[in-house]
Amino acid sequence: MIPVALSVKDLRKTFGALEVLKGISLDARQGDVISILGASGSGKSTFLRCINLLETPDSGEVRLGDEVIRMRKGRDGRSGAADRRQVDRLRARLGMVFQNFNLWSHMTILQNVIEAPVHVLGRPKAECVAEAEALLAKVGIADKRHQYPAHLSGGQQQRAAIARALAMRPDVMLFDEPTSALDPELVGEVLRVMRTLASEGRTMLVVTHEIGFARDVSDRVVFLQNGLVDCDGPPADVFGTGGSDRFKTFIARHA
Ligand code: ADP
Ligand code: MG
Repeated sequence: MIPVALSVKDLRKTFGALEVLKGISLDARQGDVISILGASGSGKSTFLRCINLLETPDSGEVRLGDEVIRMRKGRDGRSGAADRRQVDRLRARLGMVFQNFNLWSHMTILQNVIEAPVHVLGRPKAECVAEAEALLAKVGIADKRHQYPAHLSGGQQQRAAIARALAMRPDVMLFDEPTSALDPELVGEVLRVMRTLASEGRTMLVVTHEIGFARDVSDRVVFLQNGLVDCDGPPADVFGTGGSDRFKTFIARHA
């Protein structure tokens, strides 16, 4: 049996009166590539941000390997995640790639990639530089390592951001619409890198509007609607007879 890498149970999140996540559960086995689809505003980003605790869920559980974090709202109405060190440990094991790259603009590409391994994990700098150079070569931008982000195209910046996330040797990679901010001609180069990672057996949760990627690359497609998982299954099922009418309407609109 393939072990579960990431398990999310009954995750709930409200912003004021707005109930965004109404109890989302999802298990990713090691090597699973899961595409998360849903209309704009359906809570996809909030879901990823709750998994790595950039947002504090109101309640629910996130389990990553042997690390379990349970959230519950306290009497003061504020939700508290376990202890700070546990949150840091969880985060160090999750690689996050954002829509807008979020590279540090005052650092070169190489500095961006080695920053967290050196300063968060405390690994030897020379070793991190060697590994960063290999990762930058893997994503096809080794020649850009001494450039600043502003000198790179969007596609190159996003590939740098992927290398930066990989440099932490994460157990699971989270992608939040990694190609949505790119000019159409730059989408392919980022999707190619993601396909490579998928074929290497990486565990990935990918929020995306790239229907082709969801259908062809992922092992599972999860469709969020009204704060709940509307369908969850292999693409052949969900895109075939297994998808709900709401999913079909969504696809018809995005295809
Ligand atoms: P998606 O990524 O699917 O487009 P989001 O998770 O970004 O959706 O947002 C879901 C809903 O939650 C939206 O209505 C959004 O306005 C709201 N929301 C997201 N983050 C916050 C926040 N920090 N404060 C208040 N409302 C938020
Ligand atoms: Mg979003």
